[in-house]
Amino acid sequence: MSKKLTSEVAISLEEKYGAHNYHPLAVVLSKGKGAKVWDVEGKEYFDFLSAYSAVNQGHCHPKIVGAMIEQAQTLTLTSRAFYSDALGGYEKYITEYFGYDKVLPMNTGAEADETALKLCRRWAYDVKGVRADQAKIVVCADNFHGRTISIISMSTDPESKAGFGPYTPGFEVIPYNDLGALQRALDDTNVAGFLVEPIQGEAGVVVPDEGYLRKAFAMCKAKNVLFIADEVQTGIARTGKLLACDHEGVRPDILILGKALSGGAYPVSAVLADDEIMLTIKPGQHGSTFGGNPVAAKVAVAALEVVKEEKLAERAEKLGEIFRTEMRKIDSDRIELVRGKGLLNAVVIRPKDGKTAMDVCIKMAENGLLAKPTHDHIIRFAPPLVITEGQLMEAVALIKKSILSFA
Ligand code: PLP
Repeated sequence: MSKKLTSEVAISLEEKYGAHNYHPLAVVLSKGKGAKVWDVEGKEYFDFLSAYSAVNQGHCHPKIVGAMIEQAQTLTLTSRAFYSDALGGYEKYITEYFGYDKVLPMNTGAEADETALKLCRRWAYDVKGVRADQAKIVVCADNFHGRTISIISMSTDPESKAGFGPYTPGFEVIPYNDLGALQRALDDTNVAGFLVEPIQGEAGVVVPDEGYLRKAFAMCKAKNVLFIADEVQTGIARTGKLLACDHEGVRPDILILGKALSGGAYPVSAVLADDEIMLTIKPGQHGSTFGGNPVAAKVAVAALEVVKEEKLAERAEKLGEIFRTEMRKIDSDRIELVRGKGLLNAVVIRPKDGKTAMDVCIKMAENGLLAKPTHDHIIRFAPPLVITEGQLMEAVALIKKSILSFA
């Protein structure tokens, strides 16, 4: 009979045999349901990370898992060398859902971002008329779009960037939430696109000023520049609307989705755009063996249906208000700031006595709630959107108890 794995053994296996490219909290999870997860010793936790907002629909959602199992028993992969009976239906569903002519299916967020960069450059040459190899894409400081070579080339994060050069040219970095800087950057006629996160998640849930996205979009339109929204983390109901751009009535020219597009069940990402942009890419110019595979297609349809059926955007909006109000009530000088939208929130921790946000996260884990710091002093709180109001209040009590223990 096989012996049950302990946390200690599981961690030592990852340490010894896995690359050391992550620094996880010392919790070994073996089960998840809804807003909760359990470790190998059976301890229960609220999940306030949701796999970086991939599990918006809750862990192991029965409808999504059901769709996945059914398709997995029928046909898993054809590659795009052939048609499948699952892909077209998914493409129709997702384009109607978000209101675009076409979708280009990929697997991970970084791949979808890479796809958007290629699409933007291609549009620049074929439609806008930028001279060959001169196209520029404007991005924001402190962005996070993944960690491939092109993506780190436009990053300002020394951790993922430094020591991995040479970098891909063609990007201009401007400060986030700075319309003046955007206006100046757009004066360059080689600029083809502006790639932006509607809220900068990894930077610490940085919410731009109201009107920023709307005005930035208008500026891009005036200069014939594509407005490209990376909604990999903010999309699919997380911020209280289907897309974070919906808060400002902005419809991006290129929309990048990932993570919760599968409810965390499977790697599914997508790039959406209208024909004028999407049809600039021709057969053979871009693709992925797994992109748009039958399992991904069925899982994504189920995941998107769940968002509507369970009114997850409305839930996120309402519960997010409650969460921020409750956090602001905590009487502790450890809390510097509470910010966010919907159920994408952050608490900025004031470091004291050598204790950082990581120490608070370790204490919360002891108390039964999982969250992770972004940077030394910010904790992101992003539970699955299926969390009930009762569960949210239980979680709030655990967060409060943990923070007050540092008073
Ligand atoms: N874009 C944004 C805004 C993200 O937050 C992330 C991941 O956190 C990515 C892209 C990369 O996604 P993936 O890790 O699936 O490649």
